[in-house]
Parts: sequence; C-alpha cells; structure tokens
Amino acid sequence: MVTTTSTGRDRASTGRDRASTGRDRQHGHLALDEGAARRLLEVALEEAREGLAEGGIPIGAALFRRDGTLLGRGRNRRVQDGDPSVHAETAAFRDAGRRRDYSDCVMVTTLSPCWYCSGLVRQFGIGGLVVGEARTFTGGHEWLAEHGVEVVVLDDPACTELLGGFVTAHPALWHEDIGAGD
Ligand SMILES: [Zn+2]
Repeated sequence: MVTTTSTGRDRASTGRDRASTGRDRQHGHLALDEGAARRLLEVALEEAREGLAEGGIPIGAALFRRDGTLLGRGRNRRVQDGDPSVHAETAAFRDAGRRRDYSDCVMVTTLSPCWYCSGLVRQFGIGGLVVGEARTFTGGHEWLAEHGVEVVVLDDPACTELLGGFVTAHPALWHEDIGAGD
C-alpha cells in the first residue's frame, strides 16, 4: 500500500507526466516509485533498530540523492545523548555534511516528520520525502506535499510495529519526545 500525496494543479499534472515517463519533469529527477522508496527505507529502519538496541526511541532516517547514493544516516538520540534536538532526520542531515543544493535529495524517515524536522526539509529545499509510517504519529508530511515536496507514505508494518511496541512499553518517554502531556 503506497500513498503519494500530491496536491494542487501543478502537482497533479506533474504526477501524470511521471506516470507516463517515470520522470519528474518539473525537476528533471527520477520519480520516487514504491520499490525504490522501500529500498531506501531499509537504511532508516536499520537505524531505528539500532536505536532500540541502545535503549533509545526507535526512529531512524537517512538522506539520499535521487540516484540512491546514501549521503547521511542517523537515529533519534534523545536518550543516548540526553539531547532532545537529535531527531532521526536532523542526525541524518548533519551526518551528510554540507551541500549547496538539496533539491535532488530525499529524506527517508521511519515516521512522519515532526514540525521541527518538517521545517528542516522545507528550510533546505529537500526535494523528496519518504515516510515509513504516519499511524503512530502524523507530523508535517502533508504540509510539505502542499509546498511542492514529493512525498511517498509507505505505511510500512515493520516501522509501525517497531515504534508502536516502544510507545506501549515507554509511554512517558514517547510523550516527552513528541512534546505531549502524559
Ligand atoms: Zn523530528
């Protein structure tokens, strides 16, 4: 089950172009198909699993170029580093180092990005976003789609089970992470 969130007339027409040519004509990039997105998600899932093994919150992310080149990877490190600003996406972004242009990049994350990480995607003009799941938490992925980011939501059961199990076992830690009351 894959959902490509596209809104607006421009995005709709771009979607038709992609369907016929496999290429996003607006940006000249290869489009994100489900198979490619699932391959990219594997790296983010590995990060999430490592986070869980460390006693941390199991959310992972990776930043790729459209051609599949891995640029950076990371995981939520609130517990490990005692640092609430290290979300999976920010960790992957920092791991990738400096770049002039992010329009040909794809942020891949096991969970719908929070507003902080959605802001990161928008701020730096990251052109694509792959979301493992948006059931446990729904952040800003639809907002990003409305602003021209190509968004693919995979609704991946492995992501949902990994984080869902953690939330059930550690509700206070989860509420701390998302800034909600217990
Ligand atoms: Zn975040």
